[in-house]
Amino acid sequence: MKGVTVIAHPLVQHNLTRLRDKRTQPQEFRRLLGEMASLMLHEATRDFAVRSVSVRTPLSTARGFRLERPVALVPVLRAGLGMLDSILQLIPHARVGFIGLKREETTLRAQFYHKSFPKNLGRFEVVLIDPMLATGGSAVAALDLLAEQGAKHIRLVNLVAAPEGIRRVQKSYPRVPIFTAAIDRALDERGYILPGLGDAGDRLFGT
Ligand code: URA
Repeated sequence: MKGVTVIAHPLVQHNLTRLRDKRTQPQEFRRLLGEMASLMLHEATRDFAVRSVSVRTPLSTARGFRLERPVALVPVLRAGLGMLDSILQLIPHARVGFIGLKREETTLRAQFYHKSFPKNLGRFEVVLIDPMLATGGSAVAALDLLAEQGAKHIRLVNLVAAPEGIRRVQKSYPRVPIFTAAIDRALDERGYILPGLGDAGDRLFGT
């Protein structure tokens, strides 16, 4: 699917299968999700813009690269928190913003309850972390918010995506690349992904 990278790495797929398993308990779920997040971020950041620089080694001069832009990680609460720590281990200089969104039960519409961002978001490579791309309502609401803040270089990282959610994001934000470990079959009548892994926030925190 154009604009969507499914990360087929065996370790990612191994962990995803364990996450899907309903017998996997929160402690193990958190560990697996963290491992997956760092494996996925290698792939999702592969085309970060870099600038050519030279550096003096103890013996000579070497050509190398620096990241062109600072990095901002923006997890969507709650489930995005499960991917944050391990991504920060990988990109410790990243700034962190937060988007608190919940789905209104009957309409499935996204409602904000929290937002905070680094200043001058337009300068940053922004990684929006929203583990479950279901209807796409939350992802589009989060992308709207990032666009309002001036973000220009955004990528979306999901764990599992439904075709409906991908279509909705791509309709509003065709230039935002999507990275996911799986594209699942469909949504059920409550907007949950099938087969999915259930409510990611509940599974993560044991609620
Ligand atoms: N959010 C979840 O946590 N799971 C789904 O299947 C859909 C939305």
